[in-house]
Amino acid sequence: MKKALITGIAGQDGSFLAEFLLSKNYEVIGLAKKEFTTSENIENIQDKIKIINGDVADFDSVLKTVKDIKPDEIYNLAAQSFVADSWNNPSITAQCNALGPVNILESIKRESPNTKFFQASTCEIFGKPKDSPQTEETAIHPITPYGIAKLYAHLMVETYRKNYGVFASCGILFNHESERRGKQFVTRKISNSVASIKLGLLDHIELGNLNSQRDWGYAPDYVKGMYLMLQQEKSDDFILATGKPVKVRDFCNIAFLSAGIELEWEGSGLEEKGIDKKTGKTLVKVNPKFFRPTESNIYVGNPQKAETQLNWKREVSFEQMVEKMVQHDLELLKK
Ligand code: NAP
Repeated sequence: MKKALITGIAGQDGSFLAEFLLSKNYEVIGLAKKEFTTSENIENIQDKIKIINGDVADFDSVLKTVKDIKPDEIYNLAAQSFVADSWNNPSITAQCNALGPVNILESIKRESPNTKFFQASTCEIFGKPKDSPQTEETAIHPITPYGIAKLYAHLMVETYRKNYGVFASCGILFNHESERRGKQFVTRKISNSVASIKLGLLDHIELGNLNSQRDWGYAPDYVKGMYLMLQQEKSDDFILATGKPVKVRDFCNIAFLSAGIELEWEGSGLEEKGIDKKTGKTLVKVNPKFFRPTESNIYVGNPQKAETQLNWKREVSFEQMVEKMVQHDLELLKK
């Protein structure tokens, strides 16, 4: 039986990955902070996994964990993962997102050199991308504290791979969402608000830039890509993306449709409104409070390398994903 250590196991990706690896007959061990915030994500598997309390930013606890377990594979998914928060907490972001992965790499080098390592890298390392779609060769120039911290880790993975022969791969992950996405992220904010509006619990939703675009995939598809990266003979970096950017406005259209509400749009800029076609009621308003300090250019990734070399396939379409998120939030709120 193979042993996998997943950091950030109670997060969106960590919990889906744990379920996936259990289905592949792995022994799954999770590293999570003492008081982690999303235990409901792993409620259904809590008696099948082992949780070790630890912080990736604490080198001694990481070293001890790696030494004791000597896992076959480590998936580093722990992060301060909300880009907007990285402006408020740049130091915590750097400790967790930049130094955390280095603590793991150094522990592997010292105590468990046969362990394979996956690092959750991000499209935010491209900053204002010079190419569209972005590939593994696109120039890197992050412009947020989150992206800059992740870039440090990204380059350290390459350094440990080249200099110490550690099997270490980065997934350059474009946005991926699900019914387990944190509510601070715009996609979950929309699905949760649509469900609340549908049930009469909320009047309308306020959003930032409706023209903002993201390449949004479904998280369970992405964790399969992470697994595939560690099943290769050689470690390497791969983009996981859909290749199709979608605007926030279009996310809203599909989310409301999933709840049986058709929207039409009136006005522009800060005055733009999403209106219920049937009742004429305003359901979406723009609020400049939600604009980002630096609105990055369009992130859209080319997943061709992962598709051809890893045989990575996405199984859930954008529309299906939004539908799942809204239906899940409707069920949650009804409970
Ligand atoms: P998530 O839901 O926020 O999960 C991150 C997990 O890491 C949480 O369980 C969090 O626990 C834990 N964590 C935070 N700081 C930690 C620390 N110092 N030590 C140990 N655990 C810590 O994020 P996700 O969406 O699953 O993303 C997984 C990884 O992919 C992250 O590294 C993220 O940056 C990266 N990524 C995600 C996306 C995306 O679209 N989802 C895109 C690109 C890259 P608490 O909640 O208790 O803090």
